[in-house]
Amino acid sequence: MTDPVIVTRPGAGTSVIPLVFDSPHSGLDYPADMKPSLEMNILRRSEDTFVDKLFKGVDKLGAVMVEATFPRCYIDPNRTTEDIETTALADAWSGPVKPSIKTNRGTGLVWTKIHGVHPIYDRKLTAAEVQGRIDDYWMPYHDALTAEIERLYSDFGGIWHINCHSMPQRGDETTEDGPVDRADFVLGDRDGTTCAVEFTETVRDFLAGRGYDVAVNWPMKGVELVRKHGRPDENRHSLQIEINRRLYMDEIALAKNDRYDDTSAVIADMSAAIAAFVGENSAV
Ligand SMILES: [Zn+2]
Repeated sequence: MTDPVIVTRPGAGTSVIPLVFDSPHSGLDYPADMKPSLEMNILRRSEDTFVDKLFKGVDKLGAVMVEATFPRCYIDPNRTTEDIETTALADAWSGPVKPSIKTNRGTGLVWTKIHGVHPIYDRKLTAAEVQGRIDDYWMPYHDALTAEIERLYSDFGGIWHINCHSMPQRGDETTEDGPVDRADFVLGDRDGTTCAVEFTETVRDFLAGRGYDVAVNWPMKGVELVRKHGRPDENRHSLQIEINRRLYMDEIALAKNDRYDDTSAVIADMSAAIAAFVGENSAV
């Protein structure tokens, strides 16, 4: 089995800052025991394709990158382990169950549908299968991200976390916003609760300054990872960034489009601006 998570830290000689990026949804290693019945080109629309590549190189800025190698439809690190769709299981779930708005769309902890309409399996999953995915994939991902965040927090007394995602260019009938075109970028701080407002504004102002249309907390405001790690009153700042896929890829062909290189350069500049902000705010 491939390692479920890759951690890239700054190299020797690079000055470290308390900044962690994580890409939970860009993994491509579909485990052999998944056995989906849905065709791969539809299944793969659930991925945040290329997001790991768009943020590649943040270690050179003194930051850490944590990325999942497994696909989010197998098990989603951005959900709680209680977000269980019990009706999709062949047997009883013995742990606590707390479904979210995503659960009934088939996009809870273990996804069962794509876009709410394409079933991923022609069978019910067993509780043991789901538990195995938690133990072997979800937990190692959370442990790795938490370890990096806590190590830097204890060294600096503050931590800044960017949770990296991409979104389909349009919503659909199963999403909060419905079938409409989306902004170029959506920033999510769970309505101002997961980071200082200055952090969100720094990123928004950078992107708006480059001419992008930037929305905040709509139609996505951040889910489990920013909720878990963002506690601004403890100087822990966590912000979700959603990049509109039209800025870099063809969503049907799952291939880079002719805007990829420009967008990649903007993401590199944005990451440098974030690193400069963290450097100024974390001097020890
Ligand atoms: Zn995502």
